[in-house]
Amino acid sequence: MTAQIIDGRRLAQQVKARVKADVEQLQARGLTAGLAVILVGQDPASVSYVTAKQKACQEVGIRSLDHRLPSSTTQQDLLGLITELNRDRLVHGILVQLPLPGHIDQQAVIEAIEPNKDVDGFHPINVGRMVLGQDAMLPCTPRAIIEILTCSGVQIDGADVVIVGRSNIVGKPLANMLLQRSKAGNATVTVCHSRTKDLAHHTRQADVLIAAVGNPMTITADMVKPGAVVIDVGVNRIPDPSCKAGYRLVGDVDFDAVKDVAGMITPVPGGVGPMTIAMLLANTVQAAAMQG
Ligand code: NDP
Repeated sequence: MTAQIIDGRRLAQQVKARVKADVEQLQARGLTAGLAVILVGQDPASVSYVTAKQKACQEVGIRSLDHRLPSSTTQQDLLGLITELNRDRLVHGILVQLPLPGHIDQQAVIEAIEPNKDVDGFHPINVGRMVLGQDAMLPCTPRAIIEILTCSGVQIDGADVVIVGRSNIVGKPLANMLLQRSKAGNATVTVCHSRTKDLAHHTRQADVLIAAVGNPMTITADMVKPGAVVIDVGVNRIPDPSCKAGYRLVGDVDFDAVKDVAGMITPVPGGVGPMTIAMLLANTVQAAAMQG
């Protein structure tokens, strides 16, 4: 069997077209959606993510306000900027690119963002509301994964879903969202992590297998049930002298072998990544509509 390769870039374009139409509707009411993007330091991966997010804002007509700060920025100065942006009526979404330098308390920064402007969906108020099934800003990557599954016609209701990874930004919120009694929920969810005994035993039960580990080749072909849907969240840089940059991006899944077993699979790059950015745009428009 050769898996259907899910084209995340194409699906992201469809979402962007919807967001663009929403941006234009808001503009007709005199409201331009605005996203403030804060980057502290110059971590190369973070710089490239922030640049991609700002480019995507331009594409759909969201005003993006750039705050690039030196890595020596103090926590107090960063919190001061967030307080200003919380009050700024032209700013509807605030994104602080993570990770932050070690001297800054990441959680304190997340909690300083006004929950209505928390387009990453990381504030405890939004996390709590999401777990309770109430209206909330949903985190972009879990939302992207659910959008990919639904757009690809994958049955989530009643499916056995196995997530490998339990981070606060991917694994935990995704598990909660898939568990909700809702159209894109009702899954039976298993969450695995580094202390899971016999990982392959769990992954082989999955109708939908989601890898969010941050380690290449964690999921090999023998760990996948034939015909399963495999979503690869991982983004790992591995050295490759044949590439101009000296490295290439791979996911957490042994793509070449797993595509011969799975029914559907997302590639890296070109899978979850573009859809995550599209969801950031969707959250920003949702925030603007709520505040406008
Ligand atoms: P974290 O490092 O926060 O979490 C990784 C998780 O994987 C942890 O729960 C860890 O377990 C688990 N894990 C590590 N090794 C193993 C193993 N051998 N077997 C089973 N579980 C294991 O990562 P993130 O969730 O932030 O990100 C995961 C990956 O997804 C990264 O590559 C990241 O770059 C990528 N990513 C991609 C995005 C996109 O838009 N495409 C967005 C966000 C992330 P434990 O908790 O026990 O340590």
